[in-house]
Amino acid sequence: MMPTDFQIVELGDPRLRELAKPVHAEQMAYAQEVAEAMAYWMKERGGVGIAAPQIGVSLQMMIIASRPNNRYPDAPEMEPMLMLNPEPKTFSDRLVSLWEGCLSVPGVRGKVTRPDAVGVEYMDQSGQSRLIELKGFPARIFLHEYDHLIGKTFVDRVASVQDLVTDKVYFEQILST
Ligand SMILES: [Zn+2]
Repeated sequence: MMPTDFQIVELGDPRLRELAKPVHAEQMAYAQEVAEAMAYWMKERGGVGIAAPQIGVSLQMMIIASRPNNRYPDAPEMEPMLMLNPEPKTFSDRLVSLWEGCLSVPGVRGKVTRPDAVGVEYMDQSGQSRLIELKGFPARIFLHEYDHLIGKTFVDRVASVQDLVTDKVYFEQILST
């Protein structure tokens, strides 16, 4: 399959509401094709993360790819990390509110409060189980992408609809202040 055989799924599509299924060992060849399509679309749309349900695949897969950006100039530049069957295990008590965007919710931003750090158990593409502690922007990306695996998007996480704004307002009025 080609990456463009998959398409970005947007808010309102029921596939964004499903609980994604675990990736099994015998699916690894298909999972690799899905991962390539995820990486393609993440790059094509300039995202810092993507989850398989966002290209219409109900599997527990995500890529996180932090890099410095205008909201988080100190964000670490990391090699894109593919995580299969990720499970958040521990959360920091410290919470942070940040504006998020999403490839599946074009043109809209939302201010979302989440833990600043998360400990994650996941499987890498060789089938190896791994543990990682994510802090700051990579933790933020992980928690956003994990929501896609449980049928949620950032619009479910805002405290109030007042915390939803358009990109135009975000870039012209919020980011500049
Ligand atoms: Zn998203």
